Amino acid sequence: MVQITMPLNFLGSVYREIRQALVDMAEMFDLLEQPAEVTDKPGAAPLKVTGGHVRLDAVEFGYDPARPILHGITVDVPAGETVALVGPSGSGKSTIGRLLFRFYDVSGGAVTIDGQDLRDVTQDSVHAAIGVVPQDTVLFNDTIRYNIAYGRAGASFAEIEAAAKAAKIHDFIMSLPEGYETAVGERGLKLSGGEKQRVGIARTLLKNPPILLLDEATSALDTETERDIQVSLKAMGQGRTVITIAHRLSTIVDADRIVVLENGVVTEEGTHDALLDRGGKYAAMWVRQAAEEEEAAA
Ligand code: ADP
Ligand code: MG
Repeated sequence: MVQITMPLNFLGSVYREIRQALVDMAEMFDLLEQPAEVTDKPGAAPLKVTGGHVRLDAVEFGYDPARPILHGITVDVPAGETVALVGPSGSGKSTIGRLLFRFYDVSGGAVTIDGQDLRDVTQDSVHAAIGVVPQDTVLFNDTIRYNIAYGRAGASFAEIEAAAKAAKIHDFIMSLPEGYETAVGERGLKLSGGEKQRVGIARTLLKNPPILLLDEATSALDTETERDIQVSLKAMGQGRTVITIAHRLSTIVDADRIVVLENGVVTEEGTHDALLDRGGKYAAMWVRQAAEEEEAAA
């Protein structure tokens, strides 16, 4: 018996790790639509996050070397600040997110976190430092407890519950027939977009990363749910560095800085008020979205 228990435990933990890897991949699908292509340098050290200062310095990048996508992008995100990336579809916002996550290496310039070039540290340590809240949180066919616990292997039930409370999903969970043991996912209870988003937030809170990357994290929700989730996302951003990729400009008016991208170039940057005063691209996008929202509400 003893002899057979060991390998089974071992297989169990390998299985868990594979599942963990799969959910991480699936969650990143929109933001990181391709498998990793980068390899760590021999003897690469883990990233040491001291404050969470993120910087893109004159970054050049193309998925295909023959077709450059980012042309000398410089974006500075001081530790603890929130920077929003906005711009038309295809301008390179998600690509910047993928580079920050080191899913690809830059072809010119550098991406650094607390002064360390991402090419010099291990990819795993970069992934550990950054929490991603994707558009559509992927759920396992498992209990809701299990789904939240994925944020951090070995979390205690008290920690899971605390994360659920902070993500404002605890009361909903308690209203389910089997509470935290309720099966969710495709073969269990189907959750609404907003509920799934809150599970994703709880997961990320449990992971407790110093840096957050939000890629249009609330764009799939109705306006009211979105407003609600925004409050939770904002709370989660306290004391962290946040890079948020936004479509709805109304969700990022409070950002410390807004960076406007067009065709892989930064064309404007500043606070919401400063950019409105400037009367450029951002101001035009703002006026257009306000009109669209008014129309939708009428
Ligand atoms: P945004 O998020 O601002 O809409 P993306 O960063 O997704 O823009 O895309 C920027 C450009 O890169 C687009 O021209 C897009 O077609 C191209 N692109 C995005 N992902 C890939 C990919 N995996 N392979 C090749 N080209 C890509
Ligand atoms: Mg995108």
